[in-house]
Parts: sequence; C-alpha cells; structure tokens
Amino acid sequence: MIAKTGPAQDAEKRHEAAEREETELRETLATLTALAEERTGAFPADALARHVVAATPDGDFNLRRAALEATLRRFAAAEELRVAPRRGGYLARRGRTARPYAPVLWSLEPLKGSCDCRDFLRNSLGLCKHLAAVLARLGTRAKVSKAPTVLWDPVRPLDGPGDWLERVLGTRIRNAHAQDPARRFVLVTRFLRAPRTPLDPALRALLSREAGLLAHRLALRKFLPSLLRSLKSMKRGLYPYQREGVERFLATGALLLGDDMGLGKTRSTSTTSSRRRGSRAGSRDSSPTRRRSSRGSSTARATR
Ligand SMILES: [Zn+2]
Repeated sequence: MIAKTGPAQDAEKRHEAAEREETELRETLATLTALAEERTGAFPADALARHVVAATPDGDFNLRRAALEATLRRFAAAEELRVAPRRGGYLARRGRTARPYAPVLWSLEPLKGSCDCRDFLRNSLGLCKHLAAVLARLGTRAKVSKAPTVLWDPVRPLDGPGDWLERVLGTRIRNAHAQDPARRFVLVTRFLRAPRTPLDPALRALLSREAGLLAHRLALRKFLPSLLRSLKSMKRGLYPYQREGVERFLATGALLLGDDMGLGKTRSTSTTSSRRRGSRAGSRDSSPTRRRSSRGSSTARATR
C-alpha cells in the first residue's frame, strides 16, 4: 500500500471533514424534527427544523436546540391568535380590540417572511407568534406574496456590532453612520419615504422607530449650547465628570450612568431632566452633594 502525501492527503482530509459535517447536520435535523413533532400545527416539523438550522449559521447543536425551543414557544403562543388574510399578507391579533400585526410570507421552503411586531425585530429567529399562527393554521397552503426588492434580514450575526441597518438587503449600505445621527437620520428617512410598495413590514417598523429616536437625539443636540451656557449660572457647578455625563446624554439621547455611589448620579440626572424641560430648577442647585475627588469616578457610557 502506498501512503498518500501532499495534496492527495489534504483532499482526503477535507472529504472526511465534509462527510462528518454532513452526518452531524443530518442527525441535528432528525433530533430537531423529533422535538418539534406535533407542536407546529399544520406546518411540517421537518420544515421548521430546517428553518432553525438556516437561522443559526455556525451554531452548534445546543444553540440550535435552544433556537428550536424558542420557535416552539412562539407556536404555543400562536394558539390564542386570530388570523385573517389581507392584501399582501395576513393580519394576526389576540382579540377584536387588540392591536393587529401584519405577518407576511414570501417563501415556505426556505421559510422566509416578516412581521412588524417587536419580537420579530429582536429575536433573530426569522419567526414570531404571528407568523407561527399563519403557519400553524394553514401549513403549506399559506398564501405566499412576492417579496419586495429591499428586505431586512432578521437573523443577527453572532458577532459584530449588530446594527440592524447593516442588515438591509437589496440595496447598498456601505456605512449606516452609527456614530453620526444627522447623516443616519437622512439615510433612514430616505428609505422610509422611498416609493416602494409593499415595504417589508419589519423594515417599515424599524425605520419608523429609528427615525423617531434620531429626531429625538438631534433635538437634544440642538439644546446642548444653551445648556452649557446655563450650567455656568448654577450656584454650585457640576464636577467635570458630571458635566461630561450630562453632555453625553444630550448628544446621544441615551446613557448608562455608572458613577460610583455618592458621586452625584442623581444630581447629574436631575440637571439633565430639568434642562430638558427648560426649567430653571438646575440653577437653584439645592441638592446635597459631598465633594469628592473626580479621579477615576466617571464611567459613563453611551448606549445606542
Ligand atoms: Zn409578529
């Protein structure tokens, strides 16, 4: 027998690794299908297992099993929903007076769809209880609509910044301007006003929410110069780290203030609030604050 060396040996190793991966995938699909059996209504359990695998690229078995359990919880919650067809998709709601959501299906194999509910926007499963309600009731008879040219990918990568705007498909977004609210606002409103019908329901919901948040951040930024002027008139000024926290809140619209105990988080926050209301409460400055060294005190962090 002649031992294989060099490229031939590498090719054999690659072949073996591919075979091993295929076997693992087959076993994962079989296990997930067995777990989902009789829990997905009219929708085939094996189709849901394939969807979960597709929604967890690079995920191991434990991650995929957790993702399956999460989707099955949506199927269980879907039992209380009413579903009605409408132009371009469906309406799903709990009762007559509850807010309706607009799930839409674009493909059954692979499973592709969208919904404008908060859960769909955040869960990274590509499925919510509204879509599950449609699938559980109608299975493969569910109406499939033509997908818009610009879509949003609900599956968030396991690493990276996780900016939702980077996952808009069908158009080129080289830079979502995460650190520049003014340019990002222009980008978001351009998408929102573009005459594309029908718009992906998830993308429409995200754009509307983001436009509101950015408008809020920009309004706070405009307020910053007058705030800085009025801070000078306070009887007892803010310490530099408190001032930095107030400025960063007004610049970003959101802040996790991590100063240590006793360093005046309440005072920073109340100054921000009173300035936002346009009152003069901050200048009265009556809150008790012990003087401390500002060394290493401010751990303010802006959050998006
Ligand atoms: Zn939904």
